Amino acid sequence: MKILVLGSGAREHAIITALLSERAEHHIVAAPGNAGIAEAVETVALDPTSGAVVADYAIENGIELVVVGPEAPLVAGVADALHTRGIAVFGPSAKAAQLEGSKAFAKRIMEAAGVPTGAAVRAATLAEVEQALDRFGAPYVVKADGLAAGKGVIVTDDRAAALAHAEHYLQQGGVLIEEHLAGQEISLFLLSDGATVVPLSPAQDYKRIGDGDTGPNTGGMGAYSPLPWAPEGLVDEVIDTVALPTVRQLASEDTPFIGLLYCGLILTEKGLRVIEFNARFGDPETQVVLPRLTTPLSALLYAAATGTLVSAPPPTFSDDVAVTVVLASAGYPDTPHTGRPLTGLAEAAAVEGVHLCHAATAHTDEGFVATGGRVLSVVATGPDFTVARERAYRAIDLIHLEGGQVRRDIAARVDPAAH
Ligand code: AMP
Repeated sequence: MKILVLGSGAREHAIITALLSERAEHHIVAAPGNAGIAEAVETVALDPTSGAVVADYAIENGIELVVVGPEAPLVAGVADALHTRGIAVFGPSAKAAQLEGSKAFAKRIMEAAGVPTGAAVRAATLAEVEQALDRFGAPYVVKADGLAAGKGVIVTDDRAAALAHAEHYLQQGGVLIEEHLAGQEISLFLLSDGATVVPLSPAQDYKRIGDGDTGPNTGGMGAYSPLPWAPEGLVDEVIDTVALPTVRQLASEDTPFIGLLYCGLILTEKGLRVIEFNARFGDPETQVVLPRLTTPLSALLYAAATGTLVSAPPPTFSDDVAVTVVLASAGYPDTPHTGRPLTGLAEAAAVEGVHLCHAATAHTDEGFVATGGRVLSVVATGPDFTVARERAYRAIDLIHLEGGQVRRDIAARVDPAAH
């Protein structure tokens, strides 16, 4: 198949790695891709958020499937433009992508579909924010209503910090104040063709910058899959109480959701609650879910894009586990230092069971340099978490980036007894 993958992060590198691992040979093009992706497949420098540009390219080049990686092209209507021109696209319409793009929209859909989630209040003024903070009490949860690249949420006991966060995002379209939910977090990806959902394997990611879940939220510092401690029947419960009701609600509003429904969940004492939906593969969870997938990814994505998931072979997963550790630049998440040399990549990739997914790297005459906050993910698979962790950390310790930040506790507590 001729497949165009839109995006330039470690997630897209992971998607492309999975497509390349299939027995069938595909012609894969990434737009715009990154320096790591460029070592694996053809890349083209086109604007992934322009529907007209992407559709023209796809038609001129005989693309049979477009896979949209990040949220920005979805919210910009790229899937709509491709759909109109008759090109199979894995990724929801701009309207359906509001499930991620607007927290208020997501809350309304969940309410209408009876999906369990935390109570929340939308605030448009500081006075309303104060009132909502009083109502819910500490710890305070304040969320930007629009897209904020994983940085729009603050969870804090510090009322002044909660207010400052709210003030910042009030100027950018409003905020949601939410009830605090305590418990283990789970990410579950489901493929949807608008009517049917098909689950992938659950994962857990690490949002905070520091060991022991300290410091500010980030785009994600690591992840592992599967979850040995997850309650039996969890995936079926998510399908029945979250994913199917949501997809059916959207379909009933003439907004079919075609693409990846990412359920961000929390297992509270009172049961499962949705923290957020995303409308695309999550990063870094993709890096640990896809290497374990033993069904061809292209067939699943194509079936979702063409409304034929019911008749597609169900996804199966290997017994191997996967761990990913993210290397971030000094200063991330506030003001990452960029342009610093990045060495040891080949040595790291040579560790058994390890591969790298690049995110913010560039190739220069002197070698690789880091160009952003989250620089790359080291992904390790193995027969158990002890082996996979040891491989991941051995590999990341071979990489040098001045001031680079790495969490040392990824997948350290996967034992069911620890939960
Ligand atoms: P989100 O972008 O909505 O996934 O939020 C980012 C992170 O903030 C989540 O992964 C949680 O760790 C945390 N978070 C979000 N909402 C809540 C909540 N209602 N209660 C506790 N933690 C939350």
